[in-house]
Amino acid sequence: MVSEPSCIFCKIVAGIIPSLKVLETDHALAFLDVNPVNLGHILVVPKSHHANLAELSEAVAAHIGSLLPKLCRAVQSATGAAALNVVINNGRDAGQTVDHGHWHLIPRYPGDAVHWPWTHVAYPPEGPDPLRERIASALASE
Ligand code: AMP
Ligand code: ZN
Repeated sequence: MVSEPSCIFCKIVAGIIPSLKVLETDHALAFLDVNPVNLGHILVVPKSHHANLAELSEAVAAHIGSLLPKLCRAVQSATGAAALNVVINNGRDAGQTVDHGHWHLIPRYPGDAVHWPWTHVAYPPEGPDPLRERIASALASE
């Protein structure tokens, strides 16, 4: 288990900073966000420090993925929300402020003030295929 002394989520995992926990497993912790986007907003964090999703092991990513369906059901049942957004902000430009990768589960309510969905851009004149090719070949060289 990697722990980064200056990391706020590592401090929460270690119990140095309090949190309002809703679920704990050997490898993950879920707790209420201190500054919720909507009431019922929770975070799921791996217990081991990883700066972002790209650095997470497949096993821990799979474990957290396996928790998401029941966390979604519990948040929806507890809040009455019929929907939620599951979001990972991965890197500064994507809005990540805590450098310990984490999942947001944000319940959504009819007419709430959350700005969603995203805007969209058009593909360049050469179309989407060069991008598909670059991503596929990056995956092939993993
Ligand atoms: P992000 O911008 O994706 O890195 O999200 C970080 C989230 O962590 C924000 O929604 C914060 O409100 C939340 N947060 C920061 N410190 C704490 C804390 N001590 N307890 C619970 N949530 C926190
Ligand atoms: Zn950490």
